[in-house]
Amino acid sequence: MEIYKDKDKIIFEVPFWTKRSNPYMPDDADIGSHKTLIGIIYNDEFGNEERGFAKVIDMDYADKQDQQTDTMIHFWEGDKKSFIELCEKLEISVYEYPICQKCGKTIYGSHTIDKNGKPLCSECEIKLEKNKDKL
Ligand SMILES: [Zn+2]
Repeated sequence: MEIYKDKDKIIFEVPFWTKRSNPYMPDDADIGSHKTLIGIIYNDEFGNEERGFAKVIDMDYADKQDQQTDTMIHFWEGDKKSFIELCEKLEISVYEYPICQKCGKTIYGSHTIDKNGKPLCSECEIKLEKNKDKL
């Protein structure tokens, strides 16, 4: 990544592709590439919708689906629709994190689905389990 100032702009240059790597294979093994960036949509701790760009984490060597970092660059212009359109123009994927249907927090990582098919965070799941015990 290169970051530089050009007149009255700061330019972030991010390579579109990143070569996959596998610590169990020779360094020069060609095992393909992945897009460097992904657009992400999530709620902050106050329930406000946030959008931004994250770096894709290569998980191919572990035979898992790729993951992504936290937001590298927040995107504060426009709305969700225009952000998704921007990602389409940039030809990168968009990942919208699931939101807990009970407390409204963003769910990072694995989660359960409630009886109505809605995502539930682990805190709310534990609370629900404790309430069941009382019945
Ligand atoms: Zn919750």
